[in-house]
Amino acid sequence: MITMDMECRPGCAVCCIYISISSALPGMPEGKPAGVRCVNLNNSNRCLIYGSPIYPAVCKNFTPSKQMCGSSDEEAMKYLQKLEEYTTPSR
Ligand code: SF4
Ligand code: SF4
Repeated sequence: MITMDMECRPGCAVCCIYISISSALPGMPEGKPAGVRCVNLNNSNRCLIYGSPIYPAVCKNFTPSKQMCGSSDEEAMKYLQKLEEYTTPSR
């Protein structure tokens, strides 16, 4: 089980890019595939709608953890890309 034991790293946004999200996001009604930047990210990798009434539940419920996010964006990317591989059904 992953528990929240850290704060989100400002400007990281690895999870907003490298994982697939199957539920609707503002501006992305079909969700997004892995490796695609969420349209709600600005150029500094900050979520433009964070904390607003349209901030999606899927993002609210996705909490950072040392296990997942590691100590750098590279570590988070490696972990989340692996997780994506394990959870993507083979065709
Ligand atoms: S990977 Fe972790 S630290 Fe990076 S944006 Fe996502 S939750 Fe935050
Ligand atoms: S809505 Fe915001 S927190 Fe959610 S994936 Fe997009 S940029 Fe990330």
